[in-house]
Amino acid sequence: MHVAVVVKIVIQKSYFVNPFPIFAVSMETIKKDIRVLTKEELRDFFLKEGDKAFRGNQVYEWLWSKGAHSFEDMTNISIETREMLHKNFVINHIKVDQMQRSIDGTVKNAVRLHDGLIVESVLIPTAKRTTACVSSQVGCSLDCKFCATSRLKRMRNLNPDEIFDQVVAIDKESRLYFDRPLSNIVFMGMGEPLMNYNNVLKAIEKITSPEGLGMSPKRIIVSTSGVPKMIKKMADDEVKFGLAVSLHSAIDEVRTSIMPFNATFPLADLREALEYWYAKTKNTITYEYVVWDGINDTKKDVEALIKFCKFAPSKVNLIEYNPIDDGQFQQANSQALDMYISMLERNNITVTVRRSRGKDIDAACGQLANKT
Ligand code: SAH
Repeated sequence: MHVAVVVKIVIQKSYFVNPFPIFAVSMETIKKDIRVLTKEELRDFFLKEGDKAFRGNQVYEWLWSKGAHSFEDMTNISIETREMLHKNFVINHIKVDQMQRSIDGTVKNAVRLHDGLIVESVLIPTAKRTTACVSSQVGCSLDCKFCATSRLKRMRNLNPDEIFDQVVAIDKESRLYFDRPLSNIVFMGMGEPLMNYNNVLKAIEKITSPEGLGMSPKRIIVSTSGVPKMIKKMADDEVKFGLAVSLHSAIDEVRTSIMPFNATFPLADLREALEYWYAKTKNTITYEYVVWDGINDTKKDVEALIKFCKFAPSKVNLIEYNPIDDGQFQQANSQALDMYISMLERNNITVTVRRSRGKDIDAACGQLANKT
């Protein structure tokens, strides 16, 4: 898998002698991304410039509420101030490099980051909602055998603004193509959000705060393969968004064979962390689960799942498998799915079957791998 890496460096005064002249590097002029500044830091910056602190609020609003991508957009700020900002800072915004539309209406964006790396995000329309499926890392830290993203390995974490920008881009597309704003966000794109927890949290803060996009945290779901320590941290941080756990098996041996990091974070630890999460939040726990032929399609697998779900109100989403090659994974037959549904329902566990969206453009769960 090839991912284009463009080394982009600001060239201005005072070059040092560079043995690789195509990468002309300026030692003093790599400008700071203005979006790393907090609101207070922005206010202080303007005070130091002899302006009013209030100017910081205005710029902050342009950056985080209106999603401005350039200082020129900030029309209620004087031209001189915009030029001064331009001299001091950059806005490292993402660019939607390529957009593909599926026959079912799903839209996939290949998003180019300021350093040339690419991630993907997906807009999923239904009758009433538009959901954004966003990425949290370039590649992925984990090694789930059935997921195309894991083959890219993790290249880096996304910054809060890079996560935020994916949401803004999808909101714009939703307004343009479906005449309505974005309604929901799932962190089910590339990467493991809990292995980039601080940045994911900062992005969600900007997405939900009234000074940002003002979306309700109840409309956001963070999906994790299950990092016990971080699930407990989320509970301690009293986050208001929802949690989904990609379980796929409640038997350690089976889970480790398809999600090898389960050897480090076994089910007993995951369960203990989830008990902690439930005790603190009282939120229903959603499990993502694919049933594969010959892997987890027996009665014993369902019984283990039921036992695992017993400690808290649970919901199981049975996801359709999206093939990533012709390898070891095949979707189980409908009898196996029916067995799961009836046994779970008999045990009062809510179960839903989720159809894939955007398969024709490789935009479905687990298919994001920068093929474009
Ligand atoms: N790392 C996070 C989020 C990214 S994966 C997580 O594991 O939850 C998003 C969801 O897609 C997860 O539930 C994952 O198990 C599922 N998934 C991965 N590959 C898939 C595939 N090929 N077909 C169907 N679902 C897949």
